[in-house]
Amino acid sequence: MGSFEALGLSEEALKVLKRKGYEEPTPIQVKTIPLILANEKDIVGQAQTGTGKTAAFGLPIIELLNENSKNVQALVLTPTRELAVQVAEEINSLKGKKKLSIIPIYGGQSMEKQLGSLKKGVDVVVGTPGRIIDHLSRRTLKLEAISYLVLDEADEMLNMGFIEDVKRIMKDTNPYKRTMLFSATMPKEIMRIAEKYMGEYELLEIHKGDLTVSLTDQIYFEVSQGDKFEALCRIVDMEEAFYGLIFCRTKIDVDAVANHLIDRGYDADALHGDISQSQREKILNKFKKRQVTILVATDVAARGIDVHDLTHVINYALPQDPESYVHRIGRTGRAGKEGTAITFITPEEYRKLQYIKKSAKTDIRKAILPKVRDIINTKKQRIKTELEDIVKAQPQGQYLEMSRELLTDHEAEEVLAALLQYAFHEELDEKHYTEIEDVAVDTKGKTRLFVARGKKDGLTPGKLVEFIKNKCNIKDDKIKGIQILEKFSFVTLPFQEAEMLLEHFKRNKKGRWPLITMAKERRKK
Ligand code: ADP
Ligand code: MG
Repeated sequence: MGSFEALGLSEEALKVLKRKGYEEPTPIQVKTIPLILANEKDIVGQAQTGTGKTAAFGLPIIELLNENSKNVQALVLTPTRELAVQVAEEINSLKGKKKLSIIPIYGGQSMEKQLGSLKKGVDVVVGTPGRIIDHLSRRTLKLEAISYLVLDEADEMLNMGFIEDVKRIMKDTNPYKRTMLFSATMPKEIMRIAEKYMGEYELLEIHKGDLTVSLTDQIYFEVSQGDKFEALCRIVDMEEAFYGLIFCRTKIDVDAVANHLIDRGYDADALHGDISQSQREKILNKFKKRQVTILVATDVAARGIDVHDLTHVINYALPQDPESYVHRIGRTGRAGKEGTAITFITPEEYRKLQYIKKSAKTDIRKAILPKVRDIINTKKQRIKTELEDIVKAQPQGQYLEMSRELLTDHEAEEVLAALLQYAFHEELDEKHYTEIEDVAVDTKGKTRLFVARGKKDGLTPGKLVEFIKNKCNIKDDKIKGIQILEKFSFVTLPFQEAEMLLEHFKRNKKGRWPLITMAKERRKK
């Protein structure tokens, strides 16, 4: 890849990077840094979570800021307060010897503290939209003179309903600032905002394969709903040092899975919307310190979690859409380390998985759950290795003494076995695990589709083929069994293609009856 030296950064910045241990720029940094340093255009940057977007804008902005400014020079808007704090910290860590003040401003923090810092003069404000608006209304923050506006994690701001707030804040700025928008995904609404509220901009995209996903091994297991928990335990037990996020769909599921894990002796905790902010911070701290190694969360609660080096992300339940799949798994395999993303699917969810796979342009391969015997053998092997290491390093004197005492009355095998049982209880017992039922998914079938248009709408077989091809890029020879009737029509597609088309219509025609549906379903109504 590139080097930081080639990007046009100052000596001071290069020193800072060396100290931080960043060896080479990430792809989004390679594209963004020279552009921000060189020209005058606005920027729209798309790259997944964990690809170093903060430094991509933070480094060049630091370079461009004036040390003697009396006004706020840059505003970074983030969707959550955790992110505001993290981004402010990261930018601070990049400033080196430059005399710049960078502060986070977010709801929940004391107003006095913020007013104090704002009065002293601030160069970069990193804040959440709500609190920034509070300050603008009180006239305690002035943004008329900013040179840079960064909208960080724009897709999350959109998801969280902050777009109106962002527009409101933009009104208090000036027309000549440079705006930079960063996002992990680029839904249409975001592009529309860019078109409408930004100047001439450069679009920088780092595609999924470029960093995160390529470092993430993606697999799925077919498992019935009732066996998911057992499957989860087996996966965790196979690992030497599992450190991961488990995604569930609802708060109730999150609590249930976390409690189950705790009952079974794992260091797990739960994170969802009903957990108070202070509790959330405590949990995240424990997770960062690895006192908690399994964090069960909903998508919403997991937003803004900035934890690195996860060994696993597990989709206990399938995500809603391909974007959230990419978002979830983007949390493993950061900064050059390989991670594993595991998705559980029930037989009914196979279609949805195919759709996610195609839309996210990613490969998710099928794997077989570890067998109980294999897990136990792995565990035994691990215990042996660890014991041998202790033997090599020589056990502490008081234990040797105890050992001699025990051996005067008993056989060595018995004493050792007793000690292992004492340490591991039923952990090496096959009965500790339950059976997992085999579920097979039929993927070969075809699907008959109902099309809500017929001869009277001018539909012909040729037009229908053309239409289907254009919508989803499906090849001619897969489109079979066309039957055009007066008011409606039928067509048959292979399973996966049918699924794509159905998803397409489900997603694009909200509120109205979809143009194409499954033939059987429609007849039932
Ligand atoms: P994003 O905003 O794209 O989700 P972040 O900016 O939060 O990503 O960066 C993710 C992690 O990667 C952070 O811990 C950051 O310090 C680290 N990081 C950023 N750039 C580099 C780099 N060039 N080399 C190594 N680590 C980096
Ligand atoms: Mg970020």
